Amino acid sequence: MSLLAGPRSNRAFAPSGNIAQLRESATIAVSARAKALRAAGRPVIDLGAGEPDFDTPEFIRRAAQSAIDAGATRYTATEGILPLREAIVRRAGHMGVEVTPGQVVVSTGSKQSLFNACFCLFGEGDEVLIPTPSWTSYYEMVTLARATAVPVPGDAGAGLKVTPSMLEAASTGRTRGVMLNSPCNPTGAVYSRDELAALLECAHEHGWWVISDEIYRAIAYGTEPAASALEVAPSLDRLVLIDGVAKAYAMTGWRIGWAIAPRELSAAMTAFQSHTTSNAAAPSQHAALAALTNREAADDSVRKMVAEFRRRRDAVVEVVRAEPGLEIVEPEGAFYLFARVGSDDPERDDGARFAQRLLESHEVAVVPGSAFLTPGWVRMSYAAPIDAVVEGTRRLVSLWREMSR
Ligand code: PLP
Repeated sequence: MSLLAGPRSNRAFAPSGNIAQLRESATIAVSARAKALRAAGRPVIDLGAGEPDFDTPEFIRRAAQSAIDAGATRYTATEGILPLREAIVRRAGHMGVEVTPGQVVVSTGSKQSLFNACFCLFGEGDEVLIPTPSWTSYYEMVTLARATAVPVPGDAGAGLKVTPSMLEAASTGRTRGVMLNSPCNPTGAVYSRDELAALLECAHEHGWWVISDEIYRAIAYGTEPAASALEVAPSLDRLVLIDGVAKAYAMTGWRIGWAIAPRELSAAMTAFQSHTTSNAAAPSQHAALAALTNREAADDSVRKMVAEFRRRRDAVVEVVRAEPGLEIVEPEGAFYLFARVGSDDPERDDGARFAQRLLESHEVAVVPGSAFLTPGWVRMSYAAPIDAVVEGTRRLVSLWREMSR
C-alpha cells in the first residue's frame, strides 16, 4: 500500500515487501524489557547492553563543543570531512596498508557503514556467508538487500569460530560474500592472525567479497592487539573494512563509523548514502577526529577502559569456572560472555526460556542466543559495574544449576 494513499483510504499500515522478513532487534528488545521492569521498581541487573558503560573521554567532548562553537553545524561532504578521512587513512597506514581518503566513507555509526556495504554489494540471488553466531543485524541487513544470508555454524570446540573448510562447505556458485567479525559479538572470540589470514585467503581464492567488521578490535585481552583484515588480506580488491569510534572510545551515541573499500565501491556507497542520510552529524565527526588524532589521550583512555573490562572478564570467568559443566566461549575480546544453557533445537529455544526466567525471577537481563541464531545459548555483557556483573553471573550460574538438574 502506498503511504501516499488518499484521505478516503482507511486501510491500516501494511508493511512493504522490503521489510517482510524484518525482525525486531532482540538485543534492543531485551534492554527495553529490563528498563520497563526497572521503571516498575524492580532492581534489575541489566547485562543485555551492547555498549561501554563509560563516559566519552573529556578531550573528545571538548573537541566537539569547540567545533560547534567554531561553526561545525552545517552539512559536510557526504563521505565525511577530509581531516577525519585522512586520520582514518593514517590508521590504516600504521597497519602497513596504503589507502586514499577517497576510499573512506564516514557514516552514522558503523551500522550504517555495514548496511551501505551490504546494500551496494549484494542483491537478489546472491548468497552471503555469515559465521554463526553473529551480531543479529548482519542477517537482517543481508536480507534487506534481498540477498540470502547463509549461516555457517562455528565449531563449539573452538570458540564457535569458523574455518575456511566450513565456509567452503556452505558455499555455492551463488556465494558472493562473507561477513567477518573479530573480536566477535556475541562470543568474545578473537581470530588469530593466522586464522584470519586463512579465511581471507579462502575468500580471495573464491572471489568472494569480505566485509570485516572490526568495531571491537581495540578491546582485546591478548598480548597482541587483535589482528585486522587489512594486515593479512592477500589483496584489498574485494575487502571492506568496517570500524568506528563507538566501542573503543565509549562513543555509541555520537554515531560515527566508517568503511574503507575499493574506490568504485566507496563511490557507490557515497552515492547511496547521499540519498539516505547524507553526512554523519558534523559535531560528531569532529569528536571522532579528536579521538583519532590525539593519540596520547586516546590511547590512555582505551588502555584504562580495556583494563577495567579485563578485570571484569577475569571475575566473570572465575565465577563460571567454579561451576563444572557450564560451557562458555573463552572471552578474548569485546565485552561479552557467551554461555550454553540448553540444546541447539530452535523449536525449544532454550536460550530464550532461560533468559526470560533469569529476568523475571532473578532480575538479570541477558540476550537469548536465538538473536544470534544459536538458540541454546545466552549472551551476557560485562559492560556494567563489576559488582553487578559478578552478582549477575552468580545468578545466571545458579539458574543454570537449577534448570539442569
Ligand atoms: N558491529 C557489531 C559487531 C556490533 O556489535 C555493533 C553494535 O553493537 C555495531 C557493529 C554497530 O556499532 P555502531 O554503534 O558503530 O553503529
